[in-house]
Amino acid sequence: MAGLSLKNIYKIYPGDVTAVKDFNLEIKDKEFIVLVGPSGCGKSTTLRMIAGLEEITKGELFIEDRIVNEVAPKDRDIAMVFQNYALYPHMTVYDNMAFGLKLRKTPKAEIHRRVSEAAKILDIEELLERKPKALSGGQRQRVALGRAIVREPKVFLMDEPLSNLDAKLRVLMRTEISKLHYKLQTTFIYVTHDQTEAMTMGDRIVVMKDGLIQQVDTPLNLYNSP
Ligand code: ADP
Ligand code: ADP
Repeated sequence: MAGLSLKNIYKIYPGDVTAVKDFNLEIKDKEFIVLVGPSGCGKSTTLRMIAGLEEITKGELFIEDRIVNEVAPKDRDIAMVFQNYALYPHMTVYDNMAFGLKLRKTPKAEIHRRVSEAAKILDIEELLERKPKALSGGQRQRVALGRAIVREPKVFLMDEPLSNLDAKLRVLMRTEISKLHYKLQTTFIYVTHDQTEAMTMGDRIVVMKDGLIQQVDTPLNLYNSP
């Protein structure tokens, strides 16, 4: 049983900015981990190092018992959902979801199967022919999730995925993402500065401050701790 293992991870940006200090965490397979803390505490940097978008200055990152420090993002079996959806405006929803798989030369029938399945899970089957500009904020967010789902990754990374939505939709999408985790049965690592979001979504919550882990616990234990 192996999920992710982060061992003595540091990120020092040029200019001697230490963004993450001695980060140690074992993440179980299928666990929903939330990284929470104020702006600038190192959440995004941690996520980007896991994704391979940022080099690890020091320490070791294991995914499924394989050290991945030097492994390219596309070979890490990871998908990341960004805050600003980053959908291609000229492509249909279908093509937005299929694009990454096409680049990987996935056979058409397989692309079709995966896009159809993801669309069903996300309840966007009626939107496949639309362009992003003809979608609501919540629908765009679903398409962004769909693009990650079709890759069938072992690990999902989400960086403040709901922060561009209005308050009502944010609450709705919280539940949707929890359901998605249940349906996909994969590891989720979710970054937010919103404590309520963290408390309602995570199996375990990692509280960060100034690049350091302050606390790691279940929502219930955190709620009951002084
Ligand atoms: P959070 O996601 O918690 O808001 P970040 O990981 O984005 O925090 O940032 C952590 C620290 O690293 C901050 O002090 C930020 O200014 C700094 N930082 C982030 N990215 C860079 C970068 N590319 N170059 C230099 N410093 C950076
Ligand atoms: P192309 O490589 O030319 O985009 P595709 O076979 O990938 O060809 O798809 C052609 C078009 O058919 C796509 O742009 C998409 O809009 C549409 N399409 C394919 N499958 C579906 C589907 N399951 N639901 C809706 N539209 C689909």
